[in-house]
Amino acid sequence: MSLSIKVCWMYHDIMDLYGDKGNMMVLQKRCEDRQIDFHLETCAIGEKKDLSSFDLVFLGGGADKEQISLIPDLLKRKENIRKAMDENTFILLICGGYQLFGQYYIAADGSRIEGLKFYNYYTDTGKQGTRCIGNIIIDAKLDELHTKIIGFENHGGQTLHVTHPLGKVLHGFGNAFDAGYEGFYDGKILGTYLHGPLLPKNPDVADFVITKAIQKRNPDFTINDLKPLDNTFEENARKALLKRFQIQE
Ligand code: GLN
Repeated sequence: MSLSIKVCWMYHDIMDLYGDKGNMMVLQKRCEDRQIDFHLETCAIGEKKDLSSFDLVFLGGGADKEQISLIPDLLKRKENIRKAMDENTFILLICGGYQLFGQYYIAADGSRIEGLKFYNYYTDTGKQGTRCIGNIIIDAKLDELHTKIIGFENHGGQTLHVTHPLGKVLHGFGNAFDAGYEGFYDGKILGTYLHGPLLPKNPDVADFVITKAIQKRNPDFTINDLKPLDNTFEENARKALLKRFQIQE
């Protein structure tokens, strides 16, 4: 069976904090290594694009200024994004992108950015300019995949009322200073504060995202159908970080 995935990277030119672009590079490499055709398109403000025609939509993190500049364009795409989600396009959202799928985001200067309101979670600003910064490790469940995800976070936003957290925080902050939980995952979107970037540091999550994208047009496809790749380099880096924070593998 010849497989392919079609990916749309939204606001690639402004939403790319702390190497979020690496997520696209790693998906491309892991697909190419398996002879899965990887087709990547970008979508800038004002560009016409039917997001429901993609298997995966990606939106990275960004500073408040960028979030404010793109939000009118994103809100115009709301019905198209809903259609994409209804038709099983998988959505991967990092930090600033994750915040915008909720009710609203109060930026550091107090201005309110309306979100797409697909979910009940909302994001308030941190007290007196405080930010959650540093390495983060979470214990996460992504369908059948139970794994420890490592990354780096840097956000002022405090995301509250998260009904489906991605994982439990083992080290770091997560959705808010004392949230104890990180991210959001409900089968349709994976939203997380983890930069680092996320997928190069966590090859099992990269394969999970590839699987979700393939499933749009091949619903019976499972993660076990992916040809195994050599993850020794990534696994050694993961082990070193877990050891440093005295977390069992
Ligand atoms: N501007 C947002 C915040 O500070 C998102 C930052 C980010 O994407 N790292 O919370």
